Formats: sequence, structure tokens, C-alpha cells
Amino acid sequence: TRFANSIYYAEIMRALKRVFRLESFRQNQLEAILAAMDGRDVFVLMPTGGGKSLCYQLPAVCTGGSTKGVTVVISPLLSLMTNQVSALREKNVDVLVWNSETVDHKDIMRRLRGDTKPSLLYVSPEKVKDSGALRSIFGELYRTGELARFVVDEAHCISTWGMIFVKPLRHEYAKVPIMALTATANQIMVDDIKERLKLKNTAFFKQSFNRVNLNYLILDKKAKVLDDIFNFIRTKHYGETGIIYCLGREKCEKVAEQLRKKGLKAKHFHAHMASAEKEQVLMEWQSDRIQIVVATIAFGMGIDKPNVRFVIHHDLPKSLDGYYQETGRAGRDQQPADCVLFYSYRDYKIIVKMINNPRNGEEMSTPEARKRQEEQVRNVMAYCCNVSDCRRVQLLQFFNEKFDRRLCRKFCDNCSHSVDMNQQDLTEESKAIISLAHNIYSSGEKITLDHCRAIFKGADTAAVRERNHNSLPQYGHGKHLDNDLLEQLFKRLCFLEALDEESTLSKGGWYVYYLKVRPSSMAVGFPESHPNLYLKPGRRA
Ligand code: ADP
Repeated sequence: TRFANSIYYAEIMRALKRVFRLESFRQNQLEAILAAMDGRDVFVLMPTGGGKSLCYQLPAVCTGGSTKGVTVVISPLLSLMTNQVSALREKNVDVLVWNSETVDHKDIMRRLRGDTKPSLLYVSPEKVKDSGALRSIFGELYRTGELARFVVDEAHCISTWGMIFVKPLRHEYAKVPIMALTATANQIMVDDIKERLKLKNTAFFKQSFNRVNLNYLILDKKAKVLDDIFNFIRTKHYGETGIIYCLGREKCEKVAEQLRKKGLKAKHFHAHMASAEKEQVLMEWQSDRIQIVVATIAFGMGIDKPNVRFVIHHDLPKSLDGYYQETGRAGRDQQPADCVLFYSYRDYKIIVKMINNPRNGEEMSTPEARKRQEEQVRNVMAYCCNVSDCRRVQLLQFFNEKFDRRLCRKFCDNCSHSVDMNQQDLTEESKAIISLAHNIYSSGEKITLDHCRAIFKGADTAAVRERNHNSLPQYGHGKHLDNDLLEQLFKRLCFLEALDEESTLSKGGWYVYYLKVRPSSMAVGFPESHPNLYLKPGRRA
């Protein structure tokens, strides 16, 4: 390659094979490593699973270039630190850790002052900030030229949590190069991180956030979503490893239990479990003793299991950012993996409600924050409802990345369906549904969304007959549409804020959802003004 004449090349390749037991570099890894060994500040922006750690771990075990001495890795995530350190020790790399769980820091100091120093020292940000002992060790290493590099992992945390204490690194240790790495940063965040760390003449590496091996599928969430999930796992991923994300902890527990009843090895994971219990689940999952973790988003930060074959969203994610991160935990071994999201309009409303009515003990966000959060869920819903654009194009757009649809290689639902043949214009049907809903709603009669759909479909049920709904002019108007498509259409009309559901507490103490018509359905030009009323039939798992 064009790098072969770098004076460090031979040593780098040797370390790659002997220490890390890898064959070749992935995109940008070698470039970042060479820049680091040249003593430059480096910024690596790489998607989760892209291989960021190698960019600083490999130079740390080399002796050439600017890597003499100890590489200090500042990592805000305890679990990530633990994983990485044990993986390095397996490779016989000399590595020390100093974080909140460290009991004997005297021993670490002895090692750092001794003749054979470790290649890497992992530290938590709090320790860098608060520990005078650590600071004075840094000072000693710096004076003897044995501070090889500062690495700031998950560097986006600097921006979001305002980790101001990293700023003085450059002031106190002016000659030590810094490497910042993250998987989440837009241009504003990148600039902010660079400014806070005072990076200069930075070698910047950014690669596409496209995850080529992930297959994105968005499916309608039915009442029997659990059957759909089970069938999907049974037919496509039996015995394989996966994660199912749910919105709340009770849901996690229930879903895990139901999957166990169906014979799958599943356990739940959420923030309200005791830490020993969480560790147990994590350990069983990492070692393939259980296959499926049903979790809230508390599960995942810093998880590095290569063979996750599917990530299922049982409920609507709260943001596309989160969705990207969560699905990103699949297929880290670069082998194909499925990401399935079950969406429903009801979930959307639940999340919006949660944003505006925080649970007991939770703080209410500012109006601006609430507005932003609402917009984020809306983006998720719009993503789900967009059944024509490539999922990758849609998703990467949020990272300001233009993606060429052809590169998807039909590896998302929208690209794998041949669009023209399957799309149907449902504008006329939508008009009929809205006038049907108006008829009933304005008469004061209460019906459910499902019942309204049954009338439109022309169902001959007792409920329809008893209430004389078979004499309505729109009865049976949608006979020609299959049930899936009709369901989708009703959902779409809800999302477009033409129809809605309002909940009433029943005598039995549970909520019943009744159809409601929203003023926007009466707006001039609706539904013609919505090109989104083109749907595809038969979108099932
Ligand atoms: P990130 O921190 O970017 O999320 P990691 O550094 O944890 O990603 O790497 C993700 C996975 O990819 C790990 O299992 C790692 O061993 C593997 N990996 C990294 N670089 C290479 C490479 N050059 N060849 C093969 N596998 C690699």
C-alpha cells in the first residue's frame, strides 16, 4: 500500500498480527495509527463497531515514533473499560486501570514509577479531575518523556456532559499528543470537542456511518407483536444471539418471560435491577448461555459482543440517534444481521405523553427540551412511515451524510421491495375513511379505530349489524384492500393527524381507546396534500 514506506510500517504490521492476531486493517485504522505515531493530534469519527480501539491500542504497544511510554486512555464508561482491559490482558498486553473501583492505587503508582511501565493506563474522567496522586504521576511521566499520548474515548461526552477538566491536559502537558474518538458527533460537536481539548493541526478521520451488513426492517406492530417476534426469531435466527429493546422495565420482564415460555433462552435487563443481577445476565449473554436479552436502553453502552445477529425494537425508539446506536450493536463481526423495528401510532403517543408527563420523581424538562424530544420521536415516526426512501439514505441524513441508494444493495425493506409494483395510491380510500369517521364521530357515537376499520372493510360482524353500521354509505368501501394494508392506512392517517384515539377509563378500570377526528382532516386539500398516502401491501416479517 501507499503507506508501506513509512518507517513504522513494519512494526505496525507485526503488532497487528502478533499482538492483536488480525489480518488487515479496516478503513482509516492504519491512517489514524500512522498519524498518531507521527506525534500528531488525531480525531477519529467511526461508527460503533468500526474498530476505534485498535487506533490507539496498537500504537500503545509499539515503541517506534512518538509512542515511547505510557498511553493514558480516559474512558467514561466503566463497563467498556473493563471489557477492553480484559481483552488486552488476554493478548498479553501490559495494562493498568485506575477508576472508582480501584482499591490499591499504591500498587499502580509503584508500577508507573518502576522500570517496566505498562503500555496503557485506563483512567476514568473523575480520577483525572480529582485525584492529586494521579496528577502527580502524570507530571513525573511527562518530565521524563514517558507520557506517550492521551486518548479521550467516547469524546462526545465532553461535549454533552461538559467534561471541562480535560481542557487543562493540553496546558499542563503541552507536548503530549491527544487522540479523541467517538461514534456520535456532528460537525458542531466535532468543533466543540476540538476546541475543548485544544487540538491542533489535527489529523481528522471520518468514515461513512453506513453499516453495510445491517438489514433494516420496519414493520407494523400488531396486537400480537410477540408472536411476530417469536416467529421471526424461530425462522430466521433460531439459537442465535440478539437484543430486544422495550420501552419500560415491566415490559422487558413480561416479554422475556413469554419468550422463555415459548422455549427461547431469554432474560430481561433494566436499570432497576441490582447490579449483581445485571452482571449475571450480562455474563450469561456474553458467554452464550442465554441468547436473548430483553432490555431497556440501559443495556448496551459499551457492549462489545461481536455475534449479535438481530436487534428488535418491540417499541418505538425515542430518537433516530438512539435507534442508530441500538441497532449498531448488531453485526459487529461484519456478518449480516437484522434490525427490526415494530412501530405503532399508539407507542408514538405514549412517548409524547411521557415527555410531557414525567413519572413521579422524574424532573420535568424545560419547554424547549420537551419540544426537541417531541420532534425526535416525530422523526422516528416519519422514518417508519416513509416506505419509499432507502432506510440508509434516511438514517444517514441525520448524520448529515449523503448516501447513494445503490450502495444499499437491497439490504433494507424499502430497497428490497420493488417499489413501483407494490405501491398503491390510497388517497381516495383515505377520503372515504375520513368521511366515515366524521359521520360517526359527529353523531356522538363512540367506536374504536378497529371497529371503524371493520366498517370500512365491510365486515359482517354482530357489532356492525347491531349498530346498523352496515347501512353507512362507506360500508365496505375498502373491501378490496387486504387487512395489513388497511391497518397501515389507518395508522398513517393517525400519524398525519387526521384521525386520533382518545382514551377513556372504563368501568372495569382499564383504558379504552375511541376514535376521534381531528380538525386537520378537514383542512382544504387533505388528503391530497399528503403524498404519504402511497402504501405497500403485505409488509410482514
Ligand atoms: P468501536 O470501539 O469502534 O465500537 P471496537 O474497537 O470495539 O469498535 O471494535 C469492534 C470489533 O471489531 C472488535 O470485536 C474488534 O476486535 C474488531 N476489529 C477491530 N479492528 C479489526 C480489524 N482490523 N480486523 C478485524 N476485526 C477488527
